[in-house]
Amino acid sequence: MTTARTETVDRTEVLSPLIEARGLCSGYTQVPVVRELDIEVRHGEVVGLLGANGAGKTTTLLTLAGELTPTAGAVKWKGEVCDAPLFRRARTGLGYITEERSVFSGLTTAENIRVGDCDVSAVLEIFPELEPRLGVKAGMLSGGEQQMLSLGRVLARKPALLLADELSQGLAPLVVRRLLRAVRAAADGGMGVLLVEQHVSQALKVCDRAYLMRRGKVELSGTTDELQTRMAEIQAAYLSGPGRSDDSPQG
Ligand code: ATP
Repeated sequence: MTTARTETVDRTEVLSPLIEARGLCSGYTQVPVVRELDIEVRHGEVVGLLGANGAGKTTTLLTLAGELTPTAGAVKWKGEVCDAPLFRRARTGLGYITEERSVFSGLTTAENIRVGDCDVSAVLEIFPELEPRLGVKAGMLSGGEQQMLSLGRVLARKPALLLADELSQGLAPLVVRRLLRAVRAAADGGMGVLLVEQHVSQALKVCDRAYLMRRGKVELSGTTDELQTRMAEIQAAYLSGPGRSDDSPQG
């Protein structure tokens, strides 16, 4: 029997940020992208990271996950400055879902779950709709089912923090709602979530607060209620048109 995350974390741990970026700058060789970011996520909250294409959201997640090294500033993971790579952070409770759905298409749904050292019943608790699909090769699943498989595998391991990049990419609104509901339920059980999403109004329905990025910087942040009163401005300034960094050398 698994123990709910909320039962195992002590209060000090709950009150301090799980992950923090302080003055974080990051990018690729010769391409600075993210500038002076201050971001934090605590247990039990879903935090949106929103912005137009090229604003620097994926670069931010990659840096928080340990896949990119900061060029300045720091990432603190569970209160300590951390330069460990992703696989080490994963062992200490960081779950990361990249933009690409990471399923093995030649393996069945059940095999995909077991390969991730996961319990099939734990995934079915989160997404019971996968039960009739357990014997089906993952390559034959719909995009939504593949994403449920990816997300279910990560959530079933009960990470302390989930970094999720465009869970909803290319999926129908009904499926997106289902995925986001599962994320919200996991956060209600104590997990922290940083959610990069293009379906902004749907994302805000499950977020407690959000950061708005433009050109590699966080330019606006607030609670969901605050941001929802400014949706027209947000749509115009942050979500339409390219948001890429001015520092990028090409185009
Ligand atoms: P999207 O929603 O399109 O993924 P994003 O907000 O996640 O956008 P990033 O993917 O972080 O933005 O990209 C930010 C900037 O970094 C863009 O100008 C992009 O072209 C550039 N970039 C991304 N990946 C690389 C890379 N591997 N090498 C060089 N530049 C890159």
